[in-house]
Amino acid sequence: MPWDGSRKKSMRKPIVIGNWKLNLHREEARALIDELLRGPAHPWADVGVAPVLTLVEAVKTWANKSPLLVGAQNVFYEEKGAFTGECGPRFLAEAGASFCIVGHSERRTLFGETNDMVGKKVQALLKASLMPVACIGETLAQRKDGSLWDLLKAQLKAIASGIGSQSNPSNPSNQANPAMGICIAYEPIWAIGTGVTPTANEVEEVHAFLRATLAETLGKAFANETRILYGGSVTADNAKALMALPNVDGALVGGASLKAGSFSTIVASLSA
Ligand code: PEP
Repeated sequence: MPWDGSRKKSMRKPIVIGNWKLNLHREEARALIDELLRGPAHPWADVGVAPVLTLVEAVKTWANKSPLLVGAQNVFYEEKGAFTGECGPRFLAEAGASFCIVGHSERRTLFGETNDMVGKKVQALLKASLMPVACIGETLAQRKDGSLWDLLKAQLKAIASGIGSQSNPSNPSNQANPAMGICIAYEPIWAIGTGVTPTANEVEEVHAFLRATLAETLGKAFANETRILYGGSVTADNAKALMALPNVDGALVGGASLKAGSFSTIVASLSA
């Protein structure tokens, strides 16, 4: 089903999330947050950072009353029990997190996260009123042999099954709008940390496909309002062109989120 674009991109508030991965020790994180807070306000976009788990609470405290969202990079789908080493959604919420990245390709390839687990994590996060930032994406081989479409559909449907079983998800920036309570991040694996990005046409083609698939699974209204982020080697130099695409509603940023200058430039690229 082609996406008819009946709802304007401008109806979806842009969002930029910095995925710090296993980087930035306490003092470095503090310095970056201070620098970001000294920078210009960004009322046109939601902006968040996902530090290492042990720093979530501190970063939330440093962010103080600023609109900066603080999130986690992973969660377990059970709330409590004999799960050594895991962290459930309510623990994240208590630390001050308002969102959590799930299904990142590094979690899928290095730590065995499956579609089924991603769906359960989405469901658990929404139940705890945390916004999932659910990642999907193909390898270069899958893009070349054309299997990316089936793969992306299967990944998205697993996420949708986690949403579908939730009756009342909420969102840090728009409590009244359930569809705003989850972000999908399209991250081609071959673009993550490589300095290589798909062409603008390739990004838009996938994002339009994802929105159409969401419409098939969860309805057109939900699809219209869901923010679909692009991630994979977004930089201060390429952000403007990527963020201008009709079905791109923001960015999930790795390397370029570790410096205030590049991260702020990416946020600024989303202003009208
Ligand atoms: C990521 O890992 O989510 C990511 C997008 O990384 P980078 O921006 O460094 O490619």
